[in-house]
Amino acid sequence: MRLIFHGAAKEVGRSCIELKTKGDRIILDAGIKFKEHGFEYPEKVLNLPDIDGLFISHAHLDHTGALPMFEHNNITCPIFCTKLTYELTKILLKDSYKIARIRNLHPAYEKIDLKKVAKAVRFIRYDQSYKHRDIRFTFRNAGHIPGSAMMEIEAEGKRLLYTGDIKIKPTELMKGAYTAYNNVDTMIIESTYGNRVLPDKEDLKKRFLDRVEAVVKDRGSVLIPVFSLGRAQLILMILAERRFNVPVYYEGMCHKMNSKMLKVSDDPYIRNRKRLEKMLHKGATHISSPRRRQYALQKPGIFVTTSGMLQGGPVLSYIKELWHSPKNTIMLTGFQCKRTNGRHLYEEGFVYIDGWKTYVKCAVEKFDFSGHADQNELQEFIRQVNPKNLIIQHGDAEEVETLKAWAEKNTKARVYAPRVGDEIEV
Ligand SMILES: [Zn+2]
Repeated sequence: MRLIFHGAAKEVGRSCIELKTKGDRIILDAGIKFKEHGFEYPEKVLNLPDIDGLFISHAHLDHTGALPMFEHNNITCPIFCTKLTYELTKILLKDSYKIARIRNLHPAYEKIDLKKVAKAVRFIRYDQSYKHRDIRFTFRNAGHIPGSAMMEIEAEGKRLLYTGDIKIKPTELMKGAYTAYNNVDTMIIESTYGNRVLPDKEDLKKRFLDRVEAVVKDRGSVLIPVFSLGRAQLILMILAERRFNVPVYYEGMCHKMNSKMLKVSDDPYIRNRKRLEKMLHKGATHISSPRRRQYALQKPGIFVTTSGMLQGGPVLSYIKELWHSPKNTIMLTGFQCKRTNGRHLYEEGFVYIDGWKTYVKCAVEKFDFSGHADQNELQEFIRQVNPKNLIIQHGDAEEVETLKAWAEKNTKARVYAPRVGDEIEV
């Protein structure tokens, strides 16, 4: 079989891998990549007239954002994903389309294409074997976000494992990823943290909560930008572990995600559903309009809001109100892609607000609550799966190269680090 990398090769974003066998042409993930202004699509996929199936690992837009574009170009084939992934993707795609329209970014599809996506979807249950044309496949828990899956694919007598995004250890929100794979010929693995060891979960949680407590005791406000899917719920659950003398608020897309996550009940890999429910109904207040936001901002508070990389969403309206005072703190909670507002803020101390480059006076801190496996987890997982071929993707060049060098030294696998456009025969 042949693998062609249309995106997420020595970069994070626009995940899209083509799997070509003698009879079938399958696409694994169809994402977009966020840039300072707008986004990038996978390369060359529109030159593919006959795709036989689209397999989606999880709902994040860097794995799903290009789905309507396929439909727009009449590339009609079934889309396979878990039910929760579809429900969450639907919310994200709708929102992403709306934002693109408002900001005149001209997405490569129209609203009608979102409906076409809905018709093409086929729900896949975890841990069950399915057959599509000449391909057998099983979805396994990836531990990354609710609904997320790794894919075990059998084609032409070979076994392929595509990890999508993975978290091996359990978090407050998710059970750890499935790891008991056998006889894997080729493993395509993400490497977002291929070069870094993340802090111990309990230590990190304590430092985070202590810091929130200190800021609010000092009459400051805490702004916690989050990704609407996964991180928002995790942060709210962690905040629920302590009592603060100021209210906790949340705003943005995470609200819809929260309700959907609690509603779609057949996801066996979400943890602490009850605790999340309690926090959403009793512990924290949802801000549903700009007027309520203005009202809440008059007093110190803890504000959890989207988007996580400060590329849009209500978070910029909060920064507008909070950046002046050194008493306030912005606490970033995850990976910040290159050339995003979040990365600028963390590394250089400024953000673009309404097009103006603004150097903030409030404190900025980063807490790595990651939904991704860190270097140790990735290495251990690779050792355990012990594939013949190892393909490292979904990481910045440095992360990919570090993991590649390690794998070449410590495993027997033939190791690849493709660039966008590369083809690998396995
Ligand atoms: Zn993801």
